[in-house]
Amino acid sequence: MNKTVLSFLAHPDDAEILCGGTLVRLAEAGWSVHIATATAGDCGTMTQTPWEIGATRTQEGKKAAESIGATYHCLGEKDIYVCYDQPTLQKTVDLFRRVAPSLVFTHPAKDYMMDHEMVHLLARAASFGYGAPNASTFPLLPGSHVPHLYYCDPIEGVDPQGNLVTPTTVIDVTAVMDKKSHMLACHASQREWLRAHHGMDEYIEAMKRHGILRGKQAGLAYAEAFVQHLGHAYPHDDILVELLGSKK
Ligand SMILES: [Zn+2]
Repeated sequence: MNKTVLSFLAHPDDAEILCGGTLVRLAEAGWSVHIATATAGDCGTMTQTPWEIGATRTQEGKKAAESIGATYHCLGEKDIYVCYDQPTLQKTVDLFRRVAPSLVFTHPAKDYMMDHEMVHLLARAASFGYGAPNASTFPLLPGSHVPHLYYCDPIEGVDPQGNLVTPTTVIDVTAVMDKKSHMLACHASQREWLRAHHGMDEYIEAMKRHGILRGKQAGLAYAEAFVQHLGHAYPHDDILVELLGSKK
């Protein structure tokens, strides 16, 4: 099996908030880590043009990824406008084809904004299809197959009806919280904006509060929660628990 994990989420900083600690632990376990975003985060500003903030945020994403030895990718879609359509799906399949992940993290089906829900669909389709020889013109790398697929928490852990999602898998990230916080702090443009707005370091604090919430439910200081996709053709063993010795 390829020890290659791909986080495919909508925006720069989603990975650092939702699954960064687990990515750190996988990197420490010798996995090759790839962090991909659908957009460059071009709406994450009150003052700059889309191309200015997009350039800044992709550099921040690259810096965060590189801090754990990971590779950053961006599909170049636009904030608010991510679509599940053929051109975007082709770009997604091509990305999967080049990375050949055996483990994938993406957004849950229901989340607070549609970019996340569209990326969920793109990730599911690409996970299922990227190993089919005719799905992409990129060469089929050894080990390309339907990967283990996990859904990160929706933002704040709640679905659009306000219900707290019940995870299948909870990963202890207590020992890597410093590294996770450092990754998130690389997104300085977002951190400073929130700090100016809230008068406190809300960016990092909100991430920690969620880690504590998920940790409490499993008797841990800090945790990240996931739901494993168990549809037809997907691996059913809980590889995160096998690898990281985590709790349910
Ligand atoms: Zn997002």
